[in-house]
Amino acid sequence: MVGLLDGKKALVMGVANDRSIAWAIAKALADQGAELIFTYQGERLERRVRELAEQIPGSLLFPCDVSRDEDLDALKEILDQQVGALHVLVHSIAFAKTEELSGLYVDTSREGFAVAQEISVYSLTAVLQRLRGLLAKEGGSVITMTYMGSERVMPNYNVMGVAKAALESSVRYLAEDLGPDGIRVNAISAGPIRTLSAKGIKDFNSILKIIEEKAPLRRNTDPAEVGDTAVFLASSMSRGITGEIIHVDNGYHIMG
Ligand code: NDP
Repeated sequence: MVGLLDGKKALVMGVANDRSIAWAIAKALADQGAELIFTYQGERLERRVRELAEQIPGSLLFPCDVSRDEDLDALKEILDQQVGALHVLVHSIAFAKTEELSGLYVDTSREGFAVAQEISVYSLTAVLQRLRGLLAKEGGSVITMTYMGSERVMPNYNVMGVAKAALESSVRYLAEDLGPDGIRVNAISAGPIRTLSAKGIKDFNSILKIIEEKAPLRRNTDPAEVGDTAVFLASSMSRGITGEIIHVDNGYHIMG
């Protein structure tokens, strides 16, 4: 079978377990012929991510905590050595302290704000500083993950909503900076999906229930829908699209 991504190499950052959005994306990219490279945050996660990576034969796996410059530099070095060119980068990483994801946004601590911005926003820029050369070799597609809490006030999303707004703005600035090198930068704004990160958000179940009732397609987002959109963004089918935020939320964002 001919795949849309045959011969493409994709780096997927942010698989924690089999519920991770990054895992759904990785499977969809692999189904279309992409060769995969995974990173995981630290030793704590290595075994679980390795077991998943082994389900996709030929995958590579490297550690990378995006808050550590030495990890990012080491990732660049090893990819420079082992990968001739990189075609796809999936950034599916975010973090905020649990105590910042309930109560009032106005109570956000200085440190809580800084951590959310560093891990959830700056990390994309930090990775691209290192990997833009590899992505420019044969043209690249960068995909990051965002959420509607950037555009509208969603209960308890708080500091992460502000971080996602900054991430979406970064997508536009990065698209302009890297466009001349043939690198496209886009985000998928997914509807809520029950993952490890989502566990940190208070009252997540009631959000899911409202979406099932109100979204135009009357259902919640299936991670495979995000995976298929990532395939589109990774492939040349989307070659005219950069700096864009694509909602994959069964239409919920259009509702008043
Ligand atoms: P996961 O918890 O499965 O994925 C989040 C990933 O971020 C984990 O792999 C986590 O690793 C990683 N991460 C956090 N800090 C670091 C770090 N310092 N270095 C490297 N990796 C780090 O949850 P999701 O799949 O839900 O989240 C993926 C992305 O999708 C996030 O950007 C999230 O905001 C976004 N998103 C999620 C939605 C949802 O409803 N679930 C909706 C819309 C967007 P570790 O576990 O080790 O911390």
